Amino acid sequence: MPPPLNLCHPTPIFPPSTFHTSQINTLLTSATAISPTLLTTDLKHLTTSFKTRYFRSTAGRDAAVWIHRRLESIINDSSHPNASVSFYNHTWIQPSVITRIQGVSNTTIILSTHLDSLNLYLPLLLPAPGANDDASGVSALISIISTLLSPKLPLHFTNTLEFHFYSAEEAGFWGSSEVLGNYNKEYRDIHSVLQFDMIGKVNTFNNNKNGKEEPGEIGIVNDFLGKGFRRYIKLIVGEYTGLKAVDTYCGYACSDHASAIRFGYPGGLLTSGRLEDVKGGDYSHTGGDTVDKLDLEGTLQFVRFGVAWGVELGFAELGGTGRRGYLCDNGYPDGWMGGVRRFSAARAADPVGFGLWILVLVVLLGVARPWEEFPGLMRVGRRFRRGVRRGYTVLIRDAPD
Ligand SMILES: [Zn+2]
Repeated sequence: MPPPLNLCHPTPIFPPSTFHTSQINTLLTSATAISPTLLTTDLKHLTTSFKTRYFRSTAGRDAAVWIHRRLESIINDSSHPNASVSFYNHTWIQPSVITRIQGVSNTTIILSTHLDSLNLYLPLLLPAPGANDDASGVSALISIISTLLSPKLPLHFTNTLEFHFYSAEEAGFWGSSEVLGNYNKEYRDIHSVLQFDMIGKVNTFNNNKNGKEEPGEIGIVNDFLGKGFRRYIKLIVGEYTGLKAVDTYCGYACSDHASAIRFGYPGGLLTSGRLEDVKGGDYSHTGGDTVDKLDLEGTLQFVRFGVAWGVELGFAELGGTGRRGYLCDNGYPDGWMGGVRRFSAARAADPVGFGLWILVLVVLLGVARPWEEFPGLMRVGRRFRRGVRRGYTVLIRDAPD
């Protein structure tokens, strides 16, 4: 039998419609975890207790440890028998964090976000609260996990659910690349990876020009998204949230879901509204990305979405076997191996990146020789060289035989 084509681009099965509406609605109305207060508490802690969540800083490591502890306490309170949380250690100081709710099958649905933040100017020195990017995603995922593990309505899923908090997204998806690269090596059967990035700015009810209230928007990033995946996102948004789904484009690999696509897993990205509409007032990667600029009512809608996504897919018949039969590395979907941020300031602040910038500078100076424009400098240079030559002569002449 000839091998099936496009092994590295499998088409995932998404259910044709929703099947657990009453169960999900009960969960959504009864859950104490879906509250602006809880979301705000987590967001404030993430953005004010750590100066930065930069992946090479101790504060960044502390933030990951805090997230792990927070999830551990949620799991302990739930006494769910199949839930666990673990660190995924990398070669840099900040680990990724993974929560797992084991189902009957090992076929896994992943919801993800990134726990690191970045101040583009001086990552190791300047503060990076990263409220929208991406403490909003982290807090939403914590609320989703908390709701799904609600002791009032214990859920024992058919499929396995995982929640990934990736380290080092800002460096070019390093954390997700290691985690999902390893899943690929272990032949793990991943149904899909859906990333939440910058979901804190949805105005739930924007006033339009006529003063009429319009629902806020949830942006589906379309660059590398499969048709079935997109249809199912729209279905869940329509059924369980008060938001309107809109299509948007990022223009490059964009976020951690790109690592999923790289290793042959379907990857999707949700964000608040259309990226094309973000013009002024974008504080990402600066010290100005703070909680007060967010709209948490909108982020709550993402929590509702995530809960519904988890329950619907957690109980769905997805045709998975729990194990994939092949290895796969497509490379990053934009062909850049980590996106355009390969040459970013984040990369430049790495020891290796920094060395490269210095090398580039030395070569440029060697070619341009700007000091030749200054006669004074040239004189100093000549005197210096003469001095060296004289010293050398003395050395040779007076050298013992
Ligand atoms: Zn981000």
